Amino acid sequence: MIRSLAGLAALLAVAAPAAPKQPTDLLIRHATIVDVASGKTIANQAIAVTGDTIRARGSDSAISRQYTAKESVDATGKFVMPGLWDMHVHFGGGPELIEENKNLLPLYVAYGVTTVRDCAADISPSVLEWRAQVASGQLLGPRIFTSGPKLEGYKPIWKGTIEVGTPADVNAALDRLQAMKVDFVKITDNTLKPDIFLYAVHEAKRRGMKSSAHTPYALTIVQAAVAGLSSVEHVDYLIRAGSPKEVEIGVQYAAGKLTYGQASDGFVETFDKAYAAGVYRELARRHIAVTPTLNMSRILAYLDREDHSKDAALAYIGPGLRKTYEWRVERAAKATSAEVAARHRKYELSRQVMPMLVAAGIPILAGTDAGYLNSFNYPGQGIHDELQRYVESGLTAQQALVSATITGPAFLGHSDRYGSTAAGKAADILILDANPLNDINATRSIRGVVLYGKWMDRGALDALLAEAKAKAAQ
Ligand SMILES: [Zn+2]
Repeated sequence: MIRSLAGLAALLAVAAPAAPKQPTDLLIRHATIVDVASGKTIANQAIAVTGDTIRARGSDSAISRQYTAKESVDATGKFVMPGLWDMHVHFGGGPELIEENKNLLPLYVAYGVTTVRDCAADISPSVLEWRAQVASGQLLGPRIFTSGPKLEGYKPIWKGTIEVGTPADVNAALDRLQAMKVDFVKITDNTLKPDIFLYAVHEAKRRGMKSSAHTPYALTIVQAAVAGLSSVEHVDYLIRAGSPKEVEIGVQYAAGKLTYGQASDGFVETFDKAYAAGVYRELARRHIAVTPTLNMSRILAYLDREDHSKDAALAYIGPGLRKTYEWRVERAAKATSAEVAARHRKYELSRQVMPMLVAAGIPILAGTDAGYLNSFNYPGQGIHDELQRYVESGLTAQQALVSATITGPAFLGHSDRYGSTAAGKAADILILDANPLNDINATRSIRGVVLYGKWMDRGALDALLAEAKAKAAQ
């Protein structure tokens, strides 16, 4: 007996002693990984998170042998994917709405949005401040990438812009933006002259800055792409690019012979699928990306028949921001039946354009246009609505997920850090109840969020929602 025990002890001594487990902050165990890039799932995996970074990912048995964590989340039966990126949001509405805008930050997180791209408005100094505060952990919110104030022509309808009318103005504006360390340049076309637009796009590219724009009617979208524009905002501009009469209608509009609405209808009426497919391939060759903001188009197109006054998400929006929703509603109410029909047609055409963009190889950036002014387009919830619209338009669920997790980081030059839940990536993670590759609406079934490595379970997210509601009701 004694002899055999001694023998056993000798045997054990020969076996390699178990390596001590390495401490880590958080372990997510027994998860099914949603690999967005391949569209496949990997069962029974574990993720080790240290600080704000994913340290390791692998089979649950291997990771749990290697790591010990202060906090462990059992993700049995759950699906794990990277946090969502909303690539087109706005914070704005004037200085009196700064607090209401700030209150939207935790709301985004509660809906699984771990990063937003702010496409300019009128409270840029606050947004730049929040960007820094979120990054340093002082403020709970999604990571913010921002354009800072946008470039416009002299005396535009927009507030808080940098007005440019000469190349020297543009140079000075870009110097200012670079000093603010903005993440990209936003350019819009209310009063901006076409030649200055092209100069700004070209000069931004020369300086290594990404640009994103509304292109003046006097220019074609291909001209903007050739000048070096990085992204087109809103699918409408791709309808325009798909019309063989793009130049002709643009010239007539620029000469004051057509109203904005007439020009827009003209692009829809003359849209040509074969012609458009060729233009989209050309745009893809120029490496331009598109942020469709398709759900916004849909909301505006159907304001005539959809009553949003009982939308549950309205409860999260402060009274000042809710008030900014009114102008769209009032404008829509004045539309004639012919105008309403034209809007419906335009939306249905936008849906047809979506799979054509993907087929051409143009990266889609999922973005909502949520914030102020854009009625019933809700911060947080909006990205899930947007992805649903993509799938309704013929994209696969995987293509929709790519647009909300992979193309955004690639656009901003941060693919090394974001876009998957592999080792070395930022620990921005969603845990879902269902598989979003099977049904895109599963992105709404959020069980928990990891942001900057911090775990928030459903209870914590619900507390953020309750807080947002309480603040909005004040
Ligand atoms: Zn916008």
